[in-house]
Amino acid sequence: MMENIDWKNLGFGYRDTDYNVRCSYKNGEWGELEVSTSNTINIHMSATALHYGQEAFEGLKAFRGKDGKIRVFRMDENAKRMQNSCDGILMAKLPVEKFEEAVRIAIKKNERFVPPYDSGASLYIRPLLIGSGPQIGVSPAEEYLFIVFVMPVGPYFKEGFKPTNLVIMRQFDRAAPQGTGKYKVGGNYAASMYEGKKAKANGFSAVLYLDSREKKYIDECGPANFFGIKNNTYITPESESILPSITNKSLIVLAEEMGLKVERRKVPYEELAEFDEIGACGTAAVISPVKGIYDNDKDKWFKYGNQEEAGEWSTKLYSKLRAIQYGDEPDTHNWIKIIE
Ligand SMILES: *Cc1c(COP(=O)(O)O)cnc(C)c1O
Repeated sequence: MMENIDWKNLGFGYRDTDYNVRCSYKNGEWGELEVSTSNTINIHMSATALHYGQEAFEGLKAFRGKDGKIRVFRMDENAKRMQNSCDGILMAKLPVEKFEEAVRIAIKKNERFVPPYDSGASLYIRPLLIGSGPQIGVSPAEEYLFIVFVMPVGPYFKEGFKPTNLVIMRQFDRAAPQGTGKYKVGGNYAASMYEGKKAKANGFSAVLYLDSREKKYIDECGPANFFGIKNNTYITPESESILPSITNKSLIVLAEEMGLKVERRKVPYEELAEFDEIGACGTAAVISPVKGIYDNDKDKWFKYGNQEEAGEWSTKLYSKLRAIQYGDEPDTHNWIKIIE
């Protein structure tokens, strides 16, 4: 039975589906995967996730193709990144195969919530791993809980692939230079909500962070990596405090195939004046094109393109990646797993 949902107007919001998948770590080992119909969890009030932020999450998507098949994009990369986050904040690591199996079951069990091809919508998959065991002294938990839940989300660009504005505010840092910025952990998000809300209240889609040490180089946006294009070159920051985006990693491969040069290096603030195109990239939107960056401290604007449409390369990269995800173009890189 297909769900009676207005797929095109879904937006990106929490929504219940039928099942989620769970796995517990106790006595030094991971248990079996369990399927649950409950949207709540029962954990100890002294769980380390609640007090000390022992929490990591992932975000990925599944897409229904024209052929009706469900494709999930690069989930092995998400599994490995979650392991890396676990190493970063001393949590028990879930094996990659177990992660992939949990994602597969979560999609399969909620198949009726996978949006139809022509809606432009997709199934968002949210894995999370938390310290569930009690501690009151600051030390890692001895028990962990891994959960995967899913929900249908609407097309990111309802009114077309439209560029937005970012803002630079130097008084805020997302992560410390050698802190947890490179891990996908909840703490980084709590730390960036204040300025994120301020940015949105002033009409910006996100904060663009400069490096926390010197404020000389571009780091990334709140929830998305940064790239700029100039002189037929795709340029994205090298930094120890940004999250390694799987979308960015994929766009780099596609950019090279399209004949662009690729540079991953420090990107000085001054270079913002030189780019032809700028984009924020991540799972949610693939590419969110940027038409302007406002430097709030210097009261200065950097503007890109014709202010109405995304640039040529951003559009090409976006279309190419989406075509691979929906199965419209062949998956020559082995990025897709079909859920059967
Ligand atoms: C998740 C995330 C991204 C985007 O990563 P993708 O794998 O492309 O979805 C970028 N920056 C931060 C801080 C993130 O948490």
